[in-house]
Amino acid sequence: MVALITGQITQVSPRVKRLLAPNPGPFTGPGTNTYIVGKSELVLIDPGPEIVSHIDTLVDELAGNIRWILVTHTHRDHSPAAALLKKRLGSSVEVLGMLSAHDGPSFDQDFISDRPFGHGDSIKTEEFTLTAIHTPGHASNHLCYFLEEEALLFSGDHLMDGSTVVIAPPDGHIASYIDSLSLLFDYPIDVIAPAHGGLISRAHEEIEKTIRHRLKREENVRAALLLDSSRSISDLTPFVYDDVPVFMHLIAQQSLLAHLIKLEEDGEASEQQGQWTLLK
Ligand SMILES: [Zn+2]
Repeated sequence: MVALITGQITQVSPRVKRLLAPNPGPFTGPGTNTYIVGKSELVLIDPGPEIVSHIDTLVDELAGNIRWILVTHTHRDHSPAAALLKKRLGSSVEVLGMLSAHDGPSFDQDFISDRPFGHGDSIKTEEFTLTAIHTPGHASNHLCYFLEEEALLFSGDHLMDGSTVVIAPPDGHIASYIDSLSLLFDYPIDVIAPAHGGLISRAHEEIEKTIRHRLKREENVRAALLLDSSRSISDLTPFVYDDVPVFMHLIAQQSLLAHLIKLEEDGEASEQQGQWTLLK
């Protein structure tokens, strides 16, 4: 496994290089991974946040050969550098991704895709084919990218190495998240290259494990609701997330709300004035 070192471009597979941005944190782990695909005609995936040193390193590496900048989604740790890179690298570089259905402080509302781009759309060069897979769940506009020649999936924030993906409603949606994971079984993926953390091998096992983890959490939510007839999100959190450190509970509450919304959509729970009740 190639070590994650901030600011250093490293080759992680025959056609793929990675640059780790200097933005570590509770939501980003070691930071955002920016990937470079190809040798002559280059694709950049997830340009990252607006950090000058990160952008300077990318400009030095990409100048002259970059053709496309793809974003997996428009959270602020993924897409804001796209516009600055395009400005510095030339207007012939195409920036592609989906626009978000929601806004708020975690979204890059200035993101512009140079043309509509979504599920099934591909980038083809003489060296490789990259295909977009729409995977809503973590974000409604989330795209994973499948690199056919290496059976490698750029998973953005849909799958991460070493941490659980936060699903924050209303843009985050658990049922969609699980459906999108199931959709990935249609692709012959061997390796996952996430936006946070290192490469993940045995991809299908990892996807199965992630689905099981979410269903287990849903089971915990039902069990916590059964303990009492009616409970608020802050009452439920210590029961549902008893395996998660207390300092992470505020973040976990977003995913808990997403789970409760799924139970509501399935007709299993309802909410009144912030109190959740199990219906069956
Ligand atoms: Zn994200």
